[in-house]
Formats: sequence, structure tokens, C-alpha cells
Amino acid sequence: MSHSPFRIARINTDAIAGNVRRIKELTAVEDVMIVVKANAYGHGMVPAAKAALAGGATWLGTADIAEALTLRAAGITAPVLCWIHAPDETFDEAVAAEITLGVASVAQLNAIAAAGHRTGNTPRVHLKLDTGLSRNGSSPEQWADFMRTAAELNASGDLHVEGVMSHLSNTSPEDDLEQLNVFQVGLSELADAGLTPRYVHLAASMAALTLPATRFNMVRCGIAAYGISPHESQRPADFGLTPAMTLEGRVVAVRRVPESTGVSYGYLHRTAHESTLALVPFGYGDGINRNASNAAPVVINGSRYHVAGRIAMDQFVVNVEDDPVAVGDHVVLFGDPAVGHPSIHEWAAAGDSIGYEIATRLIPTRLEYVYEGQV
Ligand SMILES: *Cc1c(COP(=O)(O)O)cnc(C)c1O
Repeated sequence: MSHSPFRIARINTDAIAGNVRRIKELTAVEDVMIVVKANAYGHGMVPAAKAALAGGATWLGTADIAEALTLRAAGITAPVLCWIHAPDETFDEAVAAEITLGVASVAQLNAIAAAGHRTGNTPRVHLKLDTGLSRNGSSPEQWADFMRTAAELNASGDLHVEGVMSHLSNTSPEDDLEQLNVFQVGLSELADAGLTPRYVHLAASMAALTLPATRFNMVRCGIAAYGISPHESQRPADFGLTPAMTLEGRVVAVRRVPESTGVSYGYLHRTAHESTLALVPFGYGDGINRNASNAAPVVINGSRYHVAGRIAMDQFVVNVEDDPVAVGDHVVLFGDPAVGHPSIHEWAAAGDSIGYEIATRLIPTRLEYVYEGQV
């Protein structure tokens, strides 16, 4: 590379593999699906997927077919499930690439069976039941038709019903257990329709880590694999998880200013006395949360400070007071608190957001991704 990177997403693939091992150990399920949608929550889809498989994941999950095809194009042959489809999706490419499809309607079942005939592959599907989230699963009043069609297509060999799934709201343990009851009803209706699929899965990270009754024989974890907590108050370390990403860079300018100097757009910060201002080359154009202006923590040369004033598109300022900070010094926005870095959760809290959003909003084209780790 001809230039020297100063906005770096450093990804520890060993941490991802270790987190997957931890999820396996904690949940004790046969199969762990690691969800790598949205560029693996900002961590880079293909390297994260490889690390997850090295850590013992037996499945990968993506939101849509395009993401699943990216995994196949990278040579990844592990089972992949995806569950959000275009209204006019033909499913040909997905079925040809042996991607397993989450399905929620009779129309999708029929479209997938037709794709099977065109491609000569037997499509594999997981039936997606809505148990209370009110998103894209088949809702209970549709189950009779949906399950009958699935059973018929399965019996005729037009497709293979390999799994059944639902997704929880994480509203409270009580609400999730209520959904679990609805899911159990769905499983028994499915058995009555003649289907007992090999994979039964309900829990994403939150329930996988905290609600054992929801684990069945597979869990679908995204956020936990990256060492970010799904939980509002519990931190990754509380679950034995290690953050995989360090967002770091270098100070690009330093100036000494007098008392009462206004800093950045809107002068949300004014110096209380003569101060040194360090310029950090990250902004909302990199996916940094502008709502965290004047609040989010950073570490420069091992010392902790806060963003001073408004986060701009490409940069923000840190008031380091009288500390000897120089151009080129190392700055960490977030990483692993165990080694003294601010956590992604502090960035989330500073800007009324969640760890999921902070990670997935990062703009890969603006960052230099550096992968380190053995896997
Ligand atoms: C994103 C997603 C997951 C992963 O959720 P996490 O909370 O990141 O573990 C699992 N299942 C479905 C259906 C999803 O959309």
C-alpha cells in the first residue's frame, strides 16, 4: 500500500474463534450458527466467517442471498442459511449454490420448489415461524397452509425441510419464554403435519447466553461472536467473550490554544484554560456515531480522554489539556477494555445507540482493515 493508514479496524480473528468456542461451551448445543450478515457486523464477512468456522461453527447465517453468495464465491462450502428475500426472488442462484433458505410463506415454498426443478438441485429450507416478533415469519393463522404445503413438497422430494426456526424479541425473559411457548405449539403442529426437521433453532445471542430453554439443537449467534454484548447491562467479559475489533488510528494534528477557544462545529466545547487539542481522523463519514459528540471516550498514548465538541464527517477533536500529545500518536476509539481500551458499549452509551449499530455502521471503504490472528 502506498499510503500510511491512519484509520484502522484491527480485527483479531483468534478472538472471533475463541468467542465461538465459548458460545459452544456455554450453550452445549450440537450446532452453532454464526451470523455474518452486514459485513460480519463490520468485521469483514469472509475473514470473520473463516474464523467462526475455525472456532467450531458448523453453520453460517446471512440476512440475504447476495451475502450468502459472497461466502460461496470466497470458497466457503459450509452450510449457509439466509432469511430475507426480495419479493420477486427466483431463488435459482441460491439453490444452485446450495444455500439453505429461510422461508415464511407458501409462495416462497413454491418458488423455491420451482427453482429446484430448474437447477436440478434439491432445495433445503428452514421454516420460519413468527412467534411474536411480528416481522417476517409465517404467523400462526397461516401455519396450517404453510406447514401442509411444506410437508407435501418435502414428501414429493421437491424440496427438503431441514429446519424450523423463529426469532425472539429480547423484550424480557418473560416475553421470550412466552414466544418459546408459541414456538413449542408450532413444533407440535409441524409434527402433526408430518415434519420433524433436523435443525430446530430459536435463540440468537441474547437468549443463547441467558435463556437455556431456548437453545434446542442450534443457536444463531451474531453479536456475541464479535465479543460485543447483546445485553444492556452485562458486558462481553461477563460472558467470557473478547471484543474482536480495535478501532484505532493516529493523531493527525496538534495545536495549543488559549482559554475559551471554541472547538468544532457549533462550539459545543470551549477550553476552560490554555489547552492542547489533538485532531483524530475519524468522523461520521467513517460510520462514527455523531450523537456521541462531546462525550465518547478515546485513549491516546494509554491515557483516557473524551471527544471535545462535535464529531464532523472526517474528524473530531480531543482536548488533552497539558499532556504531551504529538502528531502520529496512537489513538484508540474502542477495543478490549481488558487491555485499557474504551469499549464499544461506551461509544454506544455516549450516543444513545447499541453496540450492534456502532459496529455495523462502520464504512469499510474508509477504513484500513488489518487482520491478525492464527485463524
Ligand atoms: C441478526 C439475526 C441473528 C443474530 O442476532 P444476534 O443478536 O446478533 O446474535 C439471529 N437470527 C436472526 C433471524 C437474525 O436476523
